[in-house]
Amino acid sequence: MRIHLVNPSDVSFGTAVITPRWQYVLAAATPERYGAPAIVDETLEPFDVSTVERGDVVGIGIHTANALRGYHLGQLARAQGASVVFGGIHATLFPDEVRQHGAAHAVVTGDGDLVWPTVLRDCEHDTPKSQYEGGRVDGDAFVPARWDLLPPDRYLFASVQTVRGCPKHCSFCSVWRTDGQKPRQRDVGAVVREIVALRRKGFRFIVLADDNFYPVTLADLAAADRRADKAQLAALTMLREERFALMARLEQLPDDMVFYTQITMEAAEDPEFLAAMRRARIRGALVGVESVTPEGLKAVFKNFNEAGEGLVTRLQAFRQAGVHVLGSFIFGLPTDRPDTFGATADLAHRASVTFAQFVMLTPLPGTVDFAKWERETADAPTVDGVPLTRYWLIPTAKRPKVYAPHPNMDADEIRQRTQQVWDRFYRLRAVWQRSACVRSLRARLAFVLISKLYRQMYANTGIATDSARVERSARRARWIARVARRLFVAAPMPHLQEPATSTPVRGRRIAVALVP
Ligand code: SF4
Repeated sequence: MRIHLVNPSDVSFGTAVITPRWQYVLAAATPERYGAPAIVDETLEPFDVSTVERGDVVGIGIHTANALRGYHLGQLARAQGASVVFGGIHATLFPDEVRQHGAAHAVVTGDGDLVWPTVLRDCEHDTPKSQYEGGRVDGDAFVPARWDLLPPDRYLFASVQTVRGCPKHCSFCSVWRTDGQKPRQRDVGAVVREIVALRRKGFRFIVLADDNFYPVTLADLAAADRRADKAQLAALTMLREERFALMARLEQLPDDMVFYTQITMEAAEDPEFLAAMRRARIRGALVGVESVTPEGLKAVFKNFNEAGEGLVTRLQAFRQAGVHVLGSFIFGLPTDRPDTFGATADLAHRASVTFAQFVMLTPLPGTVDFAKWERETADAPTVDGVPLTRYWLIPTAKRPKVYAPHPNMDADEIRQRTQQVWDRFYRLRAVWQRSACVRSLRARLAFVLISKLYRQMYANTGIATDSARVERSARRARWIARVARRLFVAAPMPHLQEPATSTPVRGRRIAVALVP
């Protein structure tokens, strides 16, 4: 019985930006007696289903965007005689749909880390259950990834997770509903061991693939301190100490290592945290800016962000601390007007944002926005019998882009204006000027390539409606990715040792709910 772990994608680039971590975690969770799983990432190349034999297990991880491709692969794999198992965010949200469309024998909801061996054992005995509840695994029990299975020369960044869950509740995001609002922090030693394994292989750029790297804010601590019962304060302080302990260990890793993460803007109010990030060489962070106006932030339940000039100051604070910001902006909020697009592009420039993404507000399953949109679109039109509220099931060639309705602008206008902002932010002259943030010519070239790659992969293939443009972009992205990869590699350090523990964390690790 061979295990295949498949990450579906309609577009293959030959080289990919970030390692799909879930595949290497499930590979590690696979008992030795089944042998090493075959890992197929279709963002590199398509899955050759003829490699599947009767009695094999094919595990397919899906999110909404790649669900239909995953269902197609599930049907093919089942026809080959394999046991088909689905997991991932979309499978967690729609297990019945997965069984119906993906020919699944079994669906794993929640985290797969601990339940995977049981699934495999049941498949081996030909008695898979239709559903397994993986639940939310505690941070101490996260399974470390098997990086020894990573193919050489295919990825720019490796990914390591340090915390799951986010205490916020943004209306367009499903993370807090699927991963929960209770931050589940991982043991520092386990994180460092994985990073060392990756550096030994020659990876020096690591994405800390966290929902929110800054789960405890100064405001959370102040609020807890105002309570008579100090238990919450003690628990929050422990979580914060663990963040500092992790960063102190990262600081001891080889000098050429660089980390990136995802963080809320509130970290900019915390100079001690920013200084620790700098020392740890966390050089970049995706910050969800979303909107530049207070009304826009209120519309997405993100009032904790700053708007206007306060926003510029916050974003510049990251930059002054040596942390480059990948600003994420949303267009199409009900409060947006035609002049919001230009104002956003100006602000991104003034705030010294190093990279930016401009996405159109899309009702994504599992979010508050989706639930509202689904309610209000009860008599949705259909395409080939599929209602628009299940747009991901419509064949890609016929699938309309679905965006949240706007009171004054239609989707085409929002798309065109969004594309113009991408074009303006990523024009060569602007990218070259921004590349001055790195010193050597090689680093500047890498900066330009990664900027162009980012735009090709996410702007043109993401919001373009014209399939010829998407294919052209994919071709360019393939070429750029191959060249960029060469600038990202470092000499392997096979004998690298783990740094010694420098900052002990006192007491037991505590996971704590930050919400009442
Ligand atoms: S802060 Fe980020 S991860 Fe957390 S709920 Fe909002 S968008 Fe999602």
